[in-house]
Amino acid sequence: NSIKVLSDKCVGCAACVDACPFGAIKMDGALAAIDLDQCKYCGACVKNCPANAIELQKEEQKVAINKNDYKNVWVYAEQRHGEISSVVFELLNEGRILADKLGVKLAAVLIGDNIKSKAQELINRGADKVYVYDDPAFIEFQDDPYSSVLTQLITKEKPEIILMGATNIGRSFASRVAARINTGLTADCTALDIDLETRNLQQTRPAFGGNIMATILTPKHRPQMATVRHKVFKEAKVQEGRKGEVVECKADISTLLNRTKFLGFIKDASGNVNISDADIIVSGGRGLGKPEGFKLIEELAELLGGAVGASRAAVDADWIPYSHQVGQTGRTVAPKVYVACGISGQIQHMVGMGSSDVIIAINKDASCPMMQTATYALEGDLYEIIPNIIKEIKASRC
Ligand code: FAD
Repeated sequence: NSIKVLSDKCVGCAACVDACPFGAIKMDGALAAIDLDQCKYCGACVKNCPANAIELQKEEQKVAINKNDYKNVWVYAEQRHGEISSVVFELLNEGRILADKLGVKLAAVLIGDNIKSKAQELINRGADKVYVYDDPAFIEFQDDPYSSVLTQLITKEKPEIILMGATNIGRSFASRVAARINTGLTADCTALDIDLETRNLQQTRPAFGGNIMATILTPKHRPQMATVRHKVFKEAKVQEGRKGEVVECKADISTLLNRTKFLGFIKDASGNVNISDADIIVSGGRGLGKPEGFKLIEELAELLGGAVGASRAAVDADWIPYSHQVGQTGRTVAPKVYVACGISGQIQHMVGMGSSDVIIAINKDASCPMMQTATYALEGDLYEIIPNIIKEIKASRC
């Protein structure tokens, strides 16, 4: 690749300096100057230059990887404040299945501070090997240094498949790593399998607003990368004392790029909504008719020791914050009991809760999809049915 500033055209406006996401351009007097060591040849400066004064020539990228060089399945062991996220245990379960099908090892990558002791937890859940980066520099997740060390490790070890949780961290992190190692990434997968003939990972996810399930392949590149939503797979069971290898990795921290500064951690103050981990969820939809309807939902949820969920219609109406939304553009949940009150069960809601063990629907319309799929369908006005359930629960506890 080559890039240059055409001095006869540059008007010294510095638009390219602001446009460069890599901080690779500075003004040298009235002329823009590009630092070629920092430049990633992304073309942002070219697009933003009003004087067409930057010339970029990109070489056609030749893909010449030998797929046979890549083996083993990896899971990124996301942790927050030293606690491994439960999605990791779900990924280890699925990763184990994929690794066994391919006849390779399952490894986990753990990055953090004072974290080494957590490696055995990953081995107990099925990892054969755990790569650990344990350094105070990794105390909080930051995209740049985390992406750099993972990219270095991938380039050295060449895994065939890398799985990450489709969490806020995973979504941001996986895409950066995939771009750096020039491979594909399928986000938000709901099913994974292997084509044994080609060793391609079949990455299935909802597409076109959840109306179809698309199976996506990465046939020409390795590793194959996918993020997977929380609660899509069951957690791997704990096998106490399972044996595995722990590889302690060292990173040269001073050489790691970091364009952000960690200022502090502010805990979510919007209440203790953790619908992803709840065993019982009582959800309200448009059928509540008014925001006050959620008082009834909250009362039932509290009596059952559960959390409050919502359909997007209720969230869009501003009856309840987004953190409660279940579905394609909200959270995926898989509680033991899901109570859907005044929710019709459109596909975008169903993809977020369809794998609940027991579904109880309360709805006026017996023919709506939620009532048709429910384990128990209670037909009628929720404002009559829910107070009666609450009354019965309270009476049974007296
Ligand atoms: P409705 O479909 O209007 O259903 C209301 C139900 O309440 C009806 O079945 C009705 O019979 C019943 N009802 C009315 N009054 C009463 C009463 N008094 N007692 C009992 N029952 C009553 N939706 C989500 O939920 N989550 C998502 O993540 C999501 N993502 C989306 C992403 C995209 C790209 C798109 C296009 C849509 C998405 N949606 C999502 C919206 C989705 O398509 C539906 O519009 C939404 O789920 C409908 O919410 P609802 O069931 O509460 O409302």
